[in-house]
Amino acid sequence: MSAERARLVEEALRTGTLSGLPDGHFIAGRFVASASGRRMESFDPGRGVAFASVAAGDAEDVDRAVEAARAALSGPWAGLSPAARGEILMRASQLIAERAARFAVVETLDSGKRLAEAEGDVSGVVRAFAYYAGAADKLHGDSMPLGPDHVGLTIEEPVGVAAQIVPWNYPLSTAARGIAPALAVGCTLVVKPAEQTPFTTLMLAELLHEAGLPEGVLNVVAGTGAEAGAALVAHPGIDHITFTGSVATGQRVMRAAAEHVTRLALELGGKSPVVVMADCDLDAAFAGVMEAIFENAGQICSAGSRLIVEEAIAQPLLDRLVAGAEALRPGHGLSDAGIGPINSPAQLARVADHVERARAAGNRILTGGGIVPPEACGGGWFYRPTIALARGADDPLVQEEIFGPVLTVQVVPDFEAAVTAANATSYALVAGIYTRDHARAWRFARAVDAGQVYINEFFAGGVAMPFGGNRKSGFGRAKGMAGLRSYSKLKSVVARI
Ligand code: NAD
Repeated sequence: MSAERARLVEEALRTGTLSGLPDGHFIAGRFVASASGRRMESFDPGRGVAFASVAAGDAEDVDRAVEAARAALSGPWAGLSPAARGEILMRASQLIAERAARFAVVETLDSGKRLAEAEGDVSGVVRAFAYYAGAADKLHGDSMPLGPDHVGLTIEEPVGVAAQIVPWNYPLSTAARGIAPALAVGCTLVVKPAEQTPFTTLMLAELLHEAGLPEGVLNVVAGTGAEAGAALVAHPGIDHITFTGSVATGQRVMRAAAEHVTRLALELGGKSPVVVMADCDLDAAFAGVMEAIFENAGQICSAGSRLIVEEAIAQPLLDRLVAGAEALRPGHGLSDAGIGPINSPAQLARVADHVERARAAGNRILTGGGIVPPEACGGGWFYRPTIALARGADDPLVQEEIFGPVLTVQVVPDFEAAVTAANATSYALVAGIYTRDHARAWRFARAVDAGQVYINEFFAGGVAMPFGGNRKSGFGRAKGMAGLRSYSKLKSVVARI
C-alpha cells in the first residue's frame, strides 16, 4: 500500500471524511457557490451518514455554466490544434495517475464501492485520457472521387457544447468516458454528476484546468436531477446530450431533447445474460458469474444479472455460486470487505422490494434475500448477496433490472434454448457465454442482441472497445473511436475546379 493511500484511508476512517474536498460548482475555471446559496449533503453508504456537503445547483447555475461553455467555444480553445488538445489530455492522464490514491478514496467514500474497485476505475480513467490524447489528431474525414471537375471531402467538426448526465454507480469513469473524447474532438462541456456522488467529477474538472484546459471549456454543476439535470437537458444552448441512467429518466431526457432537436446518446439499464454451457471451464465460469453480479454490489448497468445455465452443469455451478455468495463479507469499502454497500437507502429499498415480491410470488431463494441489519455492518446500507431461481420467461426477476447483488437463474436444456432466453427481455446491453466450443461461442455472438458480447471472460475489453446498448438499453456508443465520433458532426464540402 502506498504511503499516500495508507494516509488517506487512515484519515477517512478516523475522521469519517477527508479534508480539502471541493465544495462548489466548477464554472468558468473556478469553484463557485450556487446562485441560490443552497447546499446538499453527500453520504458515505458504508456508514449511512453524511460526510461532506456541496453546492446544490438549479437552473440559474446551469445557465451560468452553459454560458461559460458557449463562450469557450470561440476562445483560445478553438485556436488549439488537435495535437495540442491531445497534449492537455495526456498531462491530465499523468496527473490523475499521480493522484490516483486520492481519487480512489474519495470515490469509495462517496459511492460506497470497495477501494480495490475504485482503484480499478481510476486506472481505467488514466488509460481513457491517454487513449483519447492519442486519438485527438486521428479523427479525419474522407475524400470522395467525384470526377475530373470536382473535389469532394468530409470534415469532422466538434458538435459544440456537450452535456453529460452521470449516474452514481461509476461516477468518475462514466464522467471521464464522455469528457475525454468530447475534449479530444474540441467540444466544451457542462457535466451534471449524480447528486449522490459529485466529488470526483469536480476534482477532475479542477485537475484538467491544471493540465492546461482554458477556462469555461469544462464546467460541472452539482445538483439533483429534478433541479439541475432537467434544466441542463432542456437548455437551448446545449448541442449534444450524453445521458447515462435509468430508462424512465432517459425517456424524460429524450422528450426534453426533442424540444430543441438536441443530439442525444442514451446509455440505460440492462438485464444481461451470462450463458454457461456444460462444456465450459467451470472455474472460469464460476469466477466470471461471481464478478458479473457481485462486483460493485451488482450496481452495474452491464451486470450479468441473469445466469442462463445448461441443465447438465446447473447443480455443480449453483453449489459453488451459493458457497461463493455466502463467503462474501459485507463491509465498508475502505475495509477489506468482500462486498460493498448499496449507494442509497432508496436503492436498498428498491432491491429489497424486488426480492420480497419474488418471494411472495413463489421464487426459490437459494441464498441471501435480505437487508443486512445496519448494526451488523457499521450502520451502512447493505444487501445480502442473493441467488434466486426464475419461475419462467415472464418472471419479473427475469425481466426487471434490480441494480443490486441479486442473480436470477434460468436453467435451460440446450444451446438453442439458451439463445432464446438470452434475447427474451426488452434490454440488450451486454451478453456473455462460457463454453469451450468456439464455433458455438461465435454463433452466440451473432445471434444475441447486445451492444457487446463477452466470450469466456465477463467485463472483458477496455476503453478501446465501443460500449452501448440496443432496444431499452439505449443507443449511441461510448468508448473507442465510436465514442470520439459521437462528439463530432460531419460536414461535406464539394468544390468545382
Ligand atoms: P437516474 O436515471 O435516476 O439518474 C441518473 C442521472 O440522471 C443522475 O445524475 C440524476 O440526477 C439525473 N436525472 C434525474 N432526473 C433527471 C431529469 N429529469 N433530467 C435530467 N437528469 C436527470 O438513474 P440512477 O438511479 O442514478 O442510476 C441507475 C440507473 O442507471 C440504472 O438503471 C442503470 O442501469 C443505469 N446505468 C446505465 C449505465 C450505462 O452505461 N448504460 C451506466 C450506469 C448506470
